[in-house]
Amino acid sequence: MTSLSDARADVLVVGSGGAGMSAAVSAAGAGASVLVTTKSALGAGNTGKAQGGIQAAMGDDDSTESHFEDTFAAGHHAARPELVRRLADGGPEAIAWLESIGVAFTRDEGRLRLLRCGGATRKRLLQAGERTGAEMVKALRGAVRASGAEVWESTRLIDLAPDGDGWVATVAPGGNGARRTVRAGAVVLAAGGGLRGEAEALGLGSTNHPDATPEVLRLALDLGAEGRELDSWQQHPTGSVWPEALSGYALPETTRAYGATLHDADGERFVDELAPRDVVAQAIIDAVEQGRGALAPDGRAGVWLDTPAIDRENGAGFTADRLAYVHNRYRKAGIDITRERVLVYPVLHYRNGGLAIDEDAATTVPGVFAAGEIAGGVHGSNRLMGNSLLDTVVYGRRAGASAARVTR
Ligand SMILES: Cc1cc2nc3c(=O)[nH]c(=O)nc-3n(C[C@H](O)[C@H](O)[C@H](O)COP(=O)(O)OP(=O)(O)OC[C@H]3O[C@@H](n4cnc5c(N)ncnc54)[C@H](O)[C@@H]3O)c2cc1C
Repeated sequence: MTSLSDARADVLVVGSGGAGMSAAVSAAGAGASVLVTTKSALGAGNTGKAQGGIQAAMGDDDSTESHFEDTFAAGHHAARPELVRRLADGGPEAIAWLESIGVAFTRDEGRLRLLRCGGATRKRLLQAGERTGAEMVKALRGAVRASGAEVWESTRLIDLAPDGDGWVATVAPGGNGARRTVRAGAVVLAAGGGLRGEAEALGLGSTNHPDATPEVLRLALDLGAEGRELDSWQQHPTGSVWPEALSGYALPETTRAYGATLHDADGERFVDELAPRDVVAQAIIDAVEQGRGALAPDGRAGVWLDTPAIDRENGAGFTADRLAYVHNRYRKAGIDITRERVLVYPVLHYRNGGLAIDEDAATTVPGVFAAGEIAGGVHGSNRLMGNSLLDTVVYGRRAGASAARVTR
């Protein structure tokens, strides 16, 4: 084993999805020296895969109170209300901040385009084109580079231990057995929920990025950090069952927001398509278990998502325009979603819980902060679509600022 030189930083950020990059920019902006260590390339992770959009109370008929109420109710009142409050209150400012670093949210005649997604009582979902997560990652990467934060790519965190007033982290650069240590006054854990790792261990599919493994979450729990709703996992209702090439791909909820409906094998609708995700996913599972599912050529069962309904409702060409990415993915796999329905079944998607945090994103271990999908208490036991990207920005920035404060 090679041991490379030590490094020091005021703030060590672990992971570089939306939460890690927001934290790094925020900590550097507060005057801290920042080192980001991340498993693969800067920005790789679940954030870049997000297509649907980000929620914030921006509509004329909307309020942060209403965003709070919808989020708290959809999470079955299991979230910490103070955390939900901050999430909802922080929405409009998070959008302004994202715009300031270069995210261009889609507008119609100058006004933000807002959609209503499952479980929301108002149109509250903003999009940056069709791949909001990828647009956020692009802008955040630029902001991290401009912030002066040092970035170690392809460098995994493998251990974390107390070190005087701060922390010493052991990281593994590349795959050659080398080790490096970083001493830091405070640490921000932003390594995601790790659900793909959990799903693979159980032989299940998931929508998650290959980097989504739970070792950092486990490390923090081993250090004594409190966790909450750890085993509450969200299923994305409309995972693709067929064609096989798209297994693990989830059709974004915007398909349902634009009018796609769900049908059993007899063509009957069986659920409000814009109910919260857990309700829709369970209704699909129940339909299949009751023998009302349709079968794919390989024998797997699902229900029909009537995607042609989108153009029937909004006019020809609407899908090709507003859902070009999904349309093209299916077209390449041999299905025209404007003419054919697609077979869907729920797929593992998101860890609702995680490390318990307070409103400053502090975990129960002093000097260790957490933000994004690795953290718990913001979504309770069911997350509303679009709230996770918002979470990464609101709590990522809070974590970075809090960590910088500790080291002063
Ligand atoms: C297909 C898909 C679609 C989605 N669509 C939406 C949507 O439309 N709206 C929405 O709000 N949410 C959506 N989500 C959820 C949302 O994207 C994620 O929950 C959120 O982006 C997580 O951000 P994060 O920064 O916490 O984690 P990630 O973006 O996953 O980043 C984690 C980072 O940690 C790094 N890492 C992991 N382990 C280590 C280690 N040991 N050492 C160092 N680094 C490590 C990873 O490489 C990565 O850089 C979607 C998720 C998926 C998978």
